[in-house]
Amino acid sequence: MKKVIGIDLGGTSIYGGLINENGEILKRSERDTEAQKGRKEVLKRIGEVINELMVGETIEGIGLGSPGFIDAEQGKVLFLGGNIAEWTGLNLKEELSKEFPEIPIFVENDANVAAICEEWTGGAKGLNNFVMLTLGTGVGGAIYTKKEGIWHGTNYQGAELGHSILYPNGKLCGCGQKGCVEQYISGNAVEKSYFEMTKEKKRGKEIFKNSLENDICKEVVDNFAKDVAICLVSIRNIFDPQGVVIGGGVINSKEYWWDKMLAYYKDYCNNPDGMDILPAVYLNDAGMIGAAKVAFDRI
Ligand SMILES: [Zn+2]
Repeated sequence: MKKVIGIDLGGTSIYGGLINENGEILKRSERDTEAQKGRKEVLKRIGEVINELMVGETIEGIGLGSPGFIDAEQGKVLFLGGNIAEWTGLNLKEELSKEFPEIPIFVENDANVAAICEEWTGGAKGLNNFVMLTLGTGVGGAIYTKKEGIWHGTNYQGAELGHSILYPNGKLCGCGQKGCVEQYISGNAVEKSYFEMTKEKKRGKEIFKNSLENDICKEVVDNFAKDVAICLVSIRNIFDPQGVVIGGGVINSKEYWWDKMLAYYKDYCNNPDGMDILPAVYLNDAGMIGAAKVAFDRI
């Protein structure tokens, strides 16, 4: 069976996997991204992950999911607001091809690869069309239809749901706009809200967990659930998809906000029925499995 390498590049970690045509992970490798050190260091670390996975293996291709507006044809990062230093303007495919000239390399946006993974073997399997919303360090989005595949947009800026505006003149976003969705429903946003209210730092996971007994945590999580619901109302009215799959690290804490969010959605939406709202099946592995699928599809 053919094997490829799938890489999920995030602001915090680089996850790599050796993956077969069934989507099974045969081997793993991981590094901290050290995103603040800039492109040279991050590229070196991606190279280390690939080299580790390649030992004793025949590889047909490498797929990589990166945050930012990604030109999936050229493999170039057109823009990334924050997260990884010096990432904007980098031709990832070209840089990696210098180190691995014999292997075809494919680059895609990180939320798009997560959606491709969910469509391949996860929560969106069998859906004719769906929208993916990933709530991680930032907020990503993807639009998929069986007929057309991933919607990239004219400038590879399609489905950037995290940078649609939730509150005009609201919190400043790394992209330069004010009031972006990402500033309200990402893991970082939850931590920031808590900090603004208490001047104390607390991990997102803890904030969700403490929301049952602590009033401030409860308020932060309640606002978060409301804001996710508002986004879903917009998604419903813009796309009317068969389903919305919600993924990203925040899903790990879904027991503390999922039902609340659904209740707000039903309350706010003019016609809430007829759109499935589903948690992603793959969490940390979605990026690498989806990136591998991109490689299999394009080899
Ligand atoms: Zn933004």
